[in-house]
Amino acid sequence: MPNQSFPTIAVIGAGMAGLACARALQNAGARPVVLDKGRGPGGRLATRRLDGGIRFDHGAQYVTAHGAVFRSTLAAIIESGAAAQWRPATTPGIDPAAEDWITGTPGMNALVEPLAAGLELRAACEVTAVEREGAGWRVRTAGNVAGEFFDIVVSTVPVPQARQLFGAERDIAQALDGVTMAPCWALMLLFAAPVAGVPDVLQTDPETLSWLGRNNSKPGRDAARECWVAHATADWSSRHLELEREPVAVLLVEAVRRILGNAMPRVGQAIAHRWRYARTVKALGRPCLASRDGRLFLGGDWALGARVECAFDSGHAIAQTIIDGRWKP
Ligand SMILES: Cc1cc2nc3c(=O)[nH]c(=O)nc-3n(C[C@H](O)[C@H](O)[C@H](O)COP(=O)(O)OP(=O)(O)OC[C@H]3O[C@@H](n4cnc5c(N)ncnc54)[C@H](O)[C@@H]3O)c2cc1C
Repeated sequence: MPNQSFPTIAVIGAGMAGLACARALQNAGARPVVLDKGRGPGGRLATRRLDGGIRFDHGAQYVTAHGAVFRSTLAAIIESGAAAQWRPATTPGIDPAAEDWITGTPGMNALVEPLAAGLELRAACEVTAVEREGAGWRVRTAGNVAGEFFDIVVSTVPVPQARQLFGAERDIAQALDGVTMAPCWALMLLFAAPVAGVPDVLQTDPETLSWLGRNNSKPGRDAARECWVAHATADWSSRHLELEREPVAVLLVEAVRRILGNAMPRVGQAIAHRWRYARTVKALGRPCLASRDGRLFLGGDWALGARVECAFDSGHAIAQTIIDGRWKP
């Protein structure tokens, strides 16, 4: 039953920002509806499952916590069994001991499950338009073109997608113009044999790759399946953005070969994935954007930075603003 003391709230996006927001709202007594175009929650906390139970984290690799609220939220997630600390063997210059590296278990997308539990979450639900109607909003989706009315809309989609949905809101659109995000091509590599004699996370070549790591060295993975993930740099990804996945996979396999050298076994499968809006390059510099009437909030990692914790902090701050009653009916 909706709580009458709260407005009706749509949260667009079930990544870390949207779920942090919806969770805090629901804990305070609201009944937000979370809409995501993806098949499940997580957003860029993403895990690809292949036949035979093979899993790749092709988005965020691990999570770190600097602030107290995210630290305690992560501790509860670890306690629930949905995440654990990763202690990979690394090359000099990469030091996971400097800050705890936390991964979802058995995949990065599992990390959001405790946040999503009990929320009204509509997956495979792409929001196509958000229009002002009276004092609130009509939210139209691909499956419901007539749309549904909400008092408040919270959007946590990446900035270029937010520009499409909220271009008519002049102040918001102007502020979004100051934010930039970069793409990333990811490569999922299944080897036919273990990669022997090298660390789990390698120093990469800054021209092509920004990340190269042994996915199956993370806790809760099948250690016997040799799964690696590589990420291309923002610059390389931008230059190759419109190529098809197959040629990109070929190029990135060669980049990995340049790093692993003779240690590289035969490649069983190589799959490329394009993240068009992967990492924040220039952030907004504050936790969220709000319309003057306090009925529209925009946030996401891009508000504060390029990490999962930035997304959490942004979503949490939006919820807090609504809960604190700065929203006026
Ligand atoms: C390759 C890569 C590596 C990374 N590595 C790390 C790392 O190691 N550590 C780290 O801390 N961070 C890392 N990041 C960044 C981290 O993943 C993000 O900062 C964080 O996950 C963003 O969360 P979010 O909720 O703001 O956005 P998202 O996770 O992008 O969530 C937005 C959601 O909105 C949905 N959506 C978009 N448009 C619509 C629409 N029209 N209708 C409905 N739903 C819509 C999307 O499906 C998505 O689920 C990485 C990111 C990438 C891509």
